[in-house]
Amino acid sequence: MKPFEIIHSYRQLPASCFEDCQPTQVRAPQYLAFNSALAAELNLPEAFWDTAEGLALFSGNQLPAWTVPLAQAYAGHQFANYVPRLGDGRALLLAEVRHQDGQLRDLQLKGAGRTPFSRGGDGRSPLGPVLREYLVSEAMHALGIPTTRALAAVSSGELVFRDETLPGAILTRVASSHIRIGTMQYAASQPDPLVIKQLADYVIQRHYPDCQQEANPYLALLCNVIERQAALIAHWMSVGFIHGVMNTDNMTLSGETIDYGPCAFMEAYNPAQVFSYIDQQGRYAYKNQPAVAQWNLARLAEALLALIHPEQEQAISLAVTELNRFPEIYQQHWLRRFAAKLGLSHAVANDKVLIDDFLALLAKNSADFTLAFCDLNTPNQPYLQQQLDAASWQSWLTQWQNRLQDEQQQFATNPSAIMAAANPVLIPRNHLIQQVIDEVSTTGDLRLFNQLHRLWQQPFTDTAENKPFQAAAAPQERVCQTFCGT
Ligand code: AMP
Ligand code: MG
Repeated sequence: MKPFEIIHSYRQLPASCFEDCQPTQVRAPQYLAFNSALAAELNLPEAFWDTAEGLALFSGNQLPAWTVPLAQAYAGHQFANYVPRLGDGRALLLAEVRHQDGQLRDLQLKGAGRTPFSRGGDGRSPLGPVLREYLVSEAMHALGIPTTRALAAVSSGELVFRDETLPGAILTRVASSHIRIGTMQYAASQPDPLVIKQLADYVIQRHYPDCQQEANPYLALLCNVIERQAALIAHWMSVGFIHGVMNTDNMTLSGETIDYGPCAFMEAYNPAQVFSYIDQQGRYAYKNQPAVAQWNLARLAEALLALIHPEQEQAISLAVTELNRFPEIYQQHWLRRFAAKLGLSHAVANDKVLIDDFLALLAKNSADFTLAFCDLNTPNQPYLQQQLDAASWQSWLTQWQNRLQDEQQQFATNPSAIMAAANPVLIPRNHLIQQVIDEVSTTGDLRLFNQLHRLWQQPFTDTAENKPFQAAAAPQERVCQTFCGT
């Protein structure tokens, strides 16, 4: 095994960026899950793998000397309202460790007790959201979507009090970093202008080192984050993922998906779909995700203004030029991803019409997003035949087949292989996650959790075992509303 390399680089930032804080012990921790594959990637010593020492670490009950926990400070726009001080209210950064890919990863406990940022909260997390984040973040990773990862989940043996009394749990999260747009907003709001400068330099060094060579490194930073976010949101859209709470404190600068609170995968295709109970206005609906990302990036640009140019007008003009590129960059990613879902690997601008027409058919007939795209790669498309009105389907089918033929003739492509790589057969359906949470909370039975976790690691493979989990929820199983993890 390679050496386990521990770093505490976040501590070198100005003191206002974080608060030292220890976890609060829990009564009777027990492992729910441990991700040995990820542990291996991090060179985590086996003494902490699914062992008593590991349990002490991942519950926060006894931290090894190589951890020096801190809670990160951040601000954020929550549903467009600015909150100047949010911060890690129930999370602690233990250390950064070197991944085998050479990059740093944060090790963070989530639900480890109160911190100086907890405000009225208890610093704890119920079991349900911990299981959801573990399953969905690992499934997203398997889908190839940049995301924070889950290293361990432990039950605390204690209860947490929400509207109801629930079992408590702690998640160990691994991220390229936990720096959010809100972290930059917080730094920019500090009286000392060095804080935002040092944080921006830190982000550049850690995530975008090439910016150091640019004439205007901070503008280049903005530009890079715009690129990553545009790619990320297009990827979400291509699998029907709805984040649910795209506040500026829930969007990372690394471009990883973070905070699986009220997130959900769309079933029946509906661009206006919202699951989150708190999102009454539909701000974070499926179709709004790209525009919201751009809005959030404008908040990042504001935080960076003073660094981009000493004269504000100049700075604004430079930043706005970059922000205005977002729709085009997003559109390119979207087109490439959705064209691949139709079996096309050389998308042209005109393919947008073909894609939009197909999506309109799905919307009109409430077809399941995942099943519909997979069905395109099934002989005679039985699901679509049955689900869509015959005339519109036939007319679209002809256009699609013509377009496929054109591309095949021109580039000798293999549409079936392109579709198979772009259309997961298996997504973490909301009712299955709910079933897992119900089972583990009531009986402690982890069999379904383990089975789904394993199956969701291979989302593009159609197998006899995963067949029953491919289906859409029956009407009585349907999850219509989701809630924040708090
Ligand atoms: P979230 O909705 O999970 O993104 O959290 C928004 C803010 O509320 C963050 O500052 C969290 O740290 C804080 N927060 C959420 N849940 C709790 C909790 N149970 N105790 C303390 N702070 C919390
Ligand atoms: Mg959050």
